[in-house]
Amino acid sequence: MAKQLYNTIEDEIRALKKTRNAVILAHNYQVGDIQDIADFVGDSLRLSQEAAKTSADVILFCGVRFMAETASILCQDKTVLIPDLEAGCSLSDMIRPEDIRKWKSEHPNGVVVCYVNTSAEVKAECDYCCTSSNAEKVVRHIPEDKELFFVPDYFLGSYIKTKTGRKNMELWKGYCGTHALITSEAVDKLRADHPKAEFIMHPECGCTTKSMHLADQVLSTEAMVKYTHCSPAKEFIVATEVGILHRMKQQDPAKKFYPASEQAICPYMKLNILEKLVLSLERMEHEIRVPKAIAERAILPIQRMLSIV
Ligand code: SF4
Repeated sequence: MAKQLYNTIEDEIRALKKTRNAVILAHNYQVGDIQDIADFVGDSLRLSQEAAKTSADVILFCGVRFMAETASILCQDKTVLIPDLEAGCSLSDMIRPEDIRKWKSEHPNGVVVCYVNTSAEVKAECDYCCTSSNAEKVVRHIPEDKELFFVPDYFLGSYIKTKTGRKNMELWKGYCGTHALITSEAVDKLRADHPKAEFIMHPECGCTTKSMHLADQVLSTEAMVKYTHCSPAKEFIVATEVGILHRMKQQDPAKKFYPASEQAICPYMKLNILEKLVLSLERMEHEIRVPKAIAERAILPIQRMLSIV
């Protein structure tokens, strides 16, 4: 049968979406044209919550693998697809389940908090999950006499450790290679060039420890998007992956946004392109399904997080 022709690739994706009864979720770091065609754009937790609410049969998750795994954990009855199987996350790859098991064997009464940027297998070994927006609340919730192990992002962990003043908090030394490209020297120069701009930063940034005291706000991606919209300021220096500027500019075309580094481009997020969305929906590939036995354990730290935030 001849393939139907469409005026635009977006029309083709919309038609396939209808045929498959699919919903498209796009992370804030996706390229602009994927954000524009998505049903929901947001951070990984918000997208997974949208996934849990959807009546669609298929979730096309335009983000990276651990995000699709979280959606699969929360929606075991749905088919979760990602456009490119290579879309991993170097930060989530820095911690393994055996690293958590080893720490637990040495600290039998300790508590492990994992950032959402972890594999399903790692989550299955942890006590609490957290995101950059609720990490402080989660850490404060854990009794002070408990030894705490925070994985895998060192910079987020060290920011929370400073904020809470918690002493017995061990940090894993993982980091995001993309956020590590944002340097305090570049931030200093931008602040000098744009003295009226507000400086907002994501706690994963490698320069968090040096530049945190200079930031007007340290925020998660979702909070950043809300903040720039509500703030009366007209200019912003934005320290996170550059994809987020698309939503900010759409919301407030009259405001100016300066990326703290033009090089802060996540190579994994950018593997997703519109052509791969077409193939994904046509061929129903690439399915991410977390095995039931892992999902049943990995959902517990997520539920504990949701019960306290
Ligand atoms: S920006 Fe960093 S933490 Fe986020 S998906 Fe890319 S590599 Fe992972």
